[in-house]
Amino acid sequence: MRVPLLDLSEQYRTLAAPLRAEFDEILATQNFILGPKVAAFEEAMERSCGGGHAIGVSSGTDAQLAILMALGIGPGDAVVTTAYSFFATAGCIARVGATPLFVDIDPVTYNLSPDALERFLTGKCRPRQGALVDENGRTVRAIVPVHLYGLCCDMDAIMAIAQRFGLLVIEDAAQAIGAEYPGRSGVVKAGAIGEAGYFSFYPSKNLGAAGDAGLVLCREEALAHRVRVCRQHGMEPRYFHHFIGGNFRLDEIQAAILQVKLPHLDDWSARRRDVADVYREEFTRRGLAEKLHLPAEPYRAAGLTNHHIYHQYVIRTPQRDELRAHLTRHEIGSAIYYPLGLHQQKCFEYLGYREGDFPETERAARETLALPIYPELPRAAQEQVVHAMAEFFA
Ligand SMILES: *Cc1c(COP(=O)(O)O)cnc(C)c1O
Repeated sequence: MRVPLLDLSEQYRTLAAPLRAEFDEILATQNFILGPKVAAFEEAMERSCGGGHAIGVSSGTDAQLAILMALGIGPGDAVVTTAYSFFATAGCIARVGATPLFVDIDPVTYNLSPDALERFLTGKCRPRQGALVDENGRTVRAIVPVHLYGLCCDMDAIMAIAQRFGLLVIEDAAQAIGAEYPGRSGVVKAGAIGEAGYFSFYPSKNLGAAGDAGLVLCREEALAHRVRVCRQHGMEPRYFHHFIGGNFRLDEIQAAILQVKLPHLDDWSARRRDVADVYREEFTRRGLAEKLHLPAEPYRAAGLTNHHIYHQYVIRTPQRDELRAHLTRHEIGSAIYYPLGLHQQKCFEYLGYREGDFPETERAARETLALPIYPELPRAAQEQVVHAMAEFFA
């Protein structure tokens, strides 16, 4: 039996009727752009995130772009982020004309290391006229932590550092919708912790649209208003433009599809955790836990439900490439997220980083591998993955 990394067909089978009904209704009304479905989905997201102001947008990438544009971050500014993430996180910073400044990850969680962040801000930046500037005189404006693979960053530490240095926090929650964090002042949700956060509904994300879609969540209405205006070319009222935005609108069809799926999200995340539990039990029982670095679950003991939402189940081993070839021979899907650190990307050569600048990022890029995980993964298929893994390490 072939075991794919991800298979969405079962999810569609169970929801086909309500999804098709939404399609039919929208086609009948011909109301495609910023209608009641988008507004209803934004409200539902605000409720499920425990507050904030939601703005539906065209993708996760456009969500970040809209936030940066709404904040007026641009040439002469710099934004600090992790060296280990999907490209969009850094690409958006560069696209608005600002400079991405990278920081290494924590080797246990693969998330932005608060220690490395603090060392960077203390050692490589300095205060000037009430602002923080980097070595090249650029004004550091914000930090973009990424909740990678569905696990929240150490946000108490990151928020405290941001406050100390006067920086905004924009959470990349593209892979972490619904993930919870046990903060000092209570349990909070990914995307609802910083000044702004964003989600991606790319089809393979935990909550997937039928195409591209995304959402911005803002703590304050003032910023939310600017993002909402930015979503339509900085226009308010019609044909009067206050600043340059873009066409970042979320389609009614995508909003309606997401609204149908949203009530199932917690259930799907629970089933992903079940799959992760089986991997851990089986790998431990077969003595593989010592040979692999398994995903960390730092918030599990805090008793949270969504302490991890397992967008990906990622293991680390120095024999990553051989393991992957072995799994491929056994028709088991796997993927590398990501094969290079952002500082190693060709397009960022101009930033002047060098190999060795972020050792933990570079090690993760060499050694991590994502194994099949999705809510409907059959137990027999998972057994096959476990067998193939055990065979490889035998
Ligand atoms: C998917 C993803 C994005 C971008 O989202 P799109 O909807 O594909 O534009 C940004 N950051 C991370 C970490 C992602 O995984």
